[in-house]
Amino acid sequence: MKGLDVPTKNIRNFCIISHIDHGKSTLADRFLELTNTIPKEKMKPQYLDMMDLEKEKGITIKMQPVSMMYELNGEKFLLNLIDTPGHVDFSYEVSRGLAATEGAILLVDVTKGIQAQTIGNVEIAKQQNLKIIPVINKIDLIDETTVEGKERIAQIEKEICSLLNIPSSNILKISAKKGINIENLLKEIIFQIPPPQQKSKQKNWSFGLIFDSKYDPFLGVIAFVRIFGGKIKKGDKIYLFKNKVEGIAKEVGMFKPELTPTFSLKEGEIGYVATGIKEAGKVRVGDTLVVMSKRDLSGFEPLKGYEEPQPKVFLSFYPENSDDFDDLKNGLEKLRLNDPALYFKVEFKEGLGRGFQCGFLGLLHAEITAERLKREFGLKIFFSSPCVLYKAILKNGKEVLIYSPADWPDPASLLKTQELWTKIEILVPLKYVGEIFKFLETIEGKYVGMSQMGEKAKIIYETPLREIFTKNFYDKLKSVSQGFASMNYQILGWRDADLVKLDILILGKREEAFSKIVPKSQAYKEGKRTVEKLKEILPAQLFAVPLQAAIGGKIIARATIKAKRRDVTAPLYGGDYTRKMKLLERQKRGKEKLKERAQIRIPSKVFLEMLKEE
Ligand code: GDP
Ligand code: MG
Repeated sequence: MKGLDVPTKNIRNFCIISHIDHGKSTLADRFLELTNTIPKEKMKPQYLDMMDLEKEKGITIKMQPVSMMYELNGEKFLLNLIDTPGHVDFSYEVSRGLAATEGAILLVDVTKGIQAQTIGNVEIAKQQNLKIIPVINKIDLIDETTVEGKERIAQIEKEICSLLNIPSSNILKISAKKGINIENLLKEIIFQIPPPQQKSKQKNWSFGLIFDSKYDPFLGVIAFVRIFGGKIKKGDKIYLFKNKVEGIAKEVGMFKPELTPTFSLKEGEIGYVATGIKEAGKVRVGDTLVVMSKRDLSGFEPLKGYEEPQPKVFLSFYPENSDDFDDLKNGLEKLRLNDPALYFKVEFKEGLGRGFQCGFLGLLHAEITAERLKREFGLKIFFSSPCVLYKAILKNGKEVLIYSPADWPDPASLLKTQELWTKIEILVPLKYVGEIFKFLETIEGKYVGMSQMGEKAKIIYETPLREIFTKNFYDKLKSVSQGFASMNYQILGWRDADLVKLDILILGKREEAFSKIVPKSQAYKEGKRTVEKLKEILPAQLFAVPLQAAIGGKIIARATIKAKRRDVTAPLYGGDYTRKMKLLERQKRGKEKLKERAQIRIPSKVFLEMLKEE
């Protein structure tokens, strides 16, 4: 449990960035092997993808740091790698990882070339002033001896040079899978990436940036830190700036990638500090952790943290069994600990009971969260349709953020509504440009421009955020380009919109879970589509069930689920129902309205089906 005897000049902190599936996790595996961090017999593919869910889906969700020792010309080097996810929903994870490093390997799949996320990640890396080492991966899939193969490689090189704005140079070609040229890449990392740099000028303080955290029942919250000054050792009194809390470093250590205690962590190193703090919310990613010496902290300036992630799409999560509410709360709190982009608050809906309104960065983020609640906490949940963030401006000048249809203000007080617009960048081989334009014509928005990168076109388009999240935008984009198009987006800001709240009534009773916010121009079509869909999937009852779509009490579409036909007793039930309906009409006006709720129980799978629609 000694401190490491590697001088700062021999430390390299770096990450691997790329579009999803270009081979980051596989390359990390080769590094782990080559540096003997993981013995070969223990090696499993995508070793750093530790969550079951990551293994199954083949994607990285959480970034995972690892420290490796490597000897070059008799000198010892400490290489700290942060593996990052590539999916657009998780680009927030990427930016956190990059802030803790000095360099990035930019991996490009030779069969795909640069894709939209490649561009997005490079932009983040440039903002952080990182040294970028471009690398072409999957070279085993190309026969370099043929003319075709040579052309392919030349084309990818051209794309990379135009992206990084560098003259054509000899870009390293590797195969992460077959282990070709990996040793050379390790050398390039040591030569090209600078040793740890001071990102703050403060002297005589021991402090670091918290770039991630996780919870341990014995050690409390474990903060993942990049040390920017001084040294932190076990037993030190620590202070967290944002939440103004004190703790004790119960343990400090490195990622191997399992948590491995060391005596101390010093300037330039990446490791963890077990804070002993039990409340999950107290340790915030992006915060500065400082060792409290005898002096007060008045002269100390915390590091510039990250921008708080802003959830963009909202869904309500409800436990299938209302007794599980507390377990669901606990599960969400635990997940939020290392997913600062996850937002939630308690809500109550008639017919559903208590649940949570949750905010996500995108639909994949929502899906992964639901899946983790199921697997890691054994919870059965159902959820509402997604809703993007909207804004209402009231006549009294107040602005109200609308996270779900339930937040929709009283129409009488409403002055106007606004929605977020985005700039999307689509990267696609030139031959699919026509198809992409045809697709974009079906999407509300504005064409901005197009430019060429090697054999690819970059198309820029502005569109409401709603279009991206509610119409399977991504899947359609993929299908019109046979999988070759990729996209990235950026929020531009609020713009005026003509929005309405669409309600769905079942048996004359509004079902909050099916309410939606839609542009007025699409309300009729959407209302009709929703009731037709419900008609298909809601199980028939012994009586006919009217389904209606309404805006502010005005019915705009309707459908009816016919009564279930059964043996000889059917007419009896039918007659029974007429009486029931009469009763219902009367009761609608009366006090007993609530009791009628029990008339029809909507199975949770109907909520799920409605979510998966479109
Ligand atoms: P990530 O999403 O960037 O982390 O990509 P992964 O490391 O999960 O790899 C995605 C897929 O590409 C996996 O099926 C890998 O086996 C495969 N792959 C990665 N590197 C190579 C390579 O050098 N050659 C070949 N043929 N396949 C590779
Ligand atoms: Mg990965």
